[in-house]
Amino acid sequence: MLVDGFQRRITYLRLSVTDRCDLRCTYCMPERMRFLPRAEVLSLEELHRLALAFVDRGVTRIRLTGGEPLVRRDMIDLVRALGRKLGDGLEEVTLTTNGTQLARHAEALAAAGVRRINVSLDTLDRARFARLSRRDALPQVIEGIAAAKAAGLKVKINTVALKGENESELPALIDWAHGEGHGITLIEVMPMGEVEADRVDQYLPLDAVREELERRWTLTPSSHRTGGPARYFDIAETGGRLGLITPLSENFCAGCNRMRVTTSGQLYPCLGGGERVDLRAALRRDPGPEALDAALDRALAIKPERHAFRIDRRGEAPAQPRTMSATGG
Ligand code: SAM
Ligand code: SF4
Repeated sequence: MLVDGFQRRITYLRLSVTDRCDLRCTYCMPERMRFLPRAEVLSLEELHRLALAFVDRGVTRIRLTGGEPLVRRDMIDLVRALGRKLGDGLEEVTLTTNGTQLARHAEALAAAGVRRINVSLDTLDRARFARLSRRDALPQVIEGIAAAKAAGLKVKINTVALKGENESELPALIDWAHGEGHGITLIEVMPMGEVEADRVDQYLPLDAVREELERRWTLTPSSHRTGGPARYFDIAETGGRLGLITPLSENFCAGCNRMRVTTSGQLYPCLGGGERVDLRAALRRDPGPEALDAALDRALAIKPERHAFRIDRRGEAPAQPRTMSATGG
């Protein structure tokens, strides 16, 4: 089993399958983002071996992410391979996507055993979407979400709350998601990687958003738990569920159950920490499980108690130099 120095059991892996993306969200990456050379990226076979090593050590849920997972050509092959492990140690394979390629892939994902997906959507306004993501792709994303629903996938919308940007639109987004039968989770922006804007100008604390929503609707704390950092509320008027992820305004690290592996096989035991273990070296050194197992034990030993995120001073360097897209958000 994977248990860290603070007695937290790791049962959840977020595995990045690519650092590339077809969007350039302003809070995620700079416009001129430099991607990894292909030689550094794990092969499909390596990703599969790595995932199985985590399952052997008690990981029951795997989320594929990136970058944009659906821009990787052999992504569906990996989902199919992991789908065959479902019911045999693995309980869930899921992914987080920006939705631009979902219309093409929704059926195949469902057929491979995916039941739920997270789709990131920060606005329903086409001009704002184009400004925020630097690509005019909102119609594709809406089409992708509809295709996912039609394929029987349960969709959760993820929305990064951005001061002065989608701030005024959050109630409309929640209303829309619930009307479509989707859950929605709001996320505080995290200081990862250098982007053009100052994080102070982007950061919108969710306690203030919640107060605003409570003036409009009746929010009741929900007993719903996913094992993740979100706290949930049921909204009486919309009939839907709202999640809040508050790394900055309310720390949740004590219940952390996860680790992240980048597309080049670097394991980060904490999203907000610099600690790292090179799993690619272990994978390539030793075809058996010993080197990987030893690397996982090293990661457990160095997993920090809590992240070091803060956004309180203008001009401050990011808590981590790597972007969310490079880490596997
Ligand atoms: N491309 C996919 C997508 O957008 O869903 C998957 C990768 S993306 C890095 C995963 C999630 O991280 C998205 O919901 C995105 O909005 C969020 N994200 C990216 N940069 C962030 C930041 N600096 N702070 C908080 N969330 C961020
Ligand atoms: Fe791409 Fe997702 Fe980052 Fe947007 S948030 S640039 S879609 S990786």
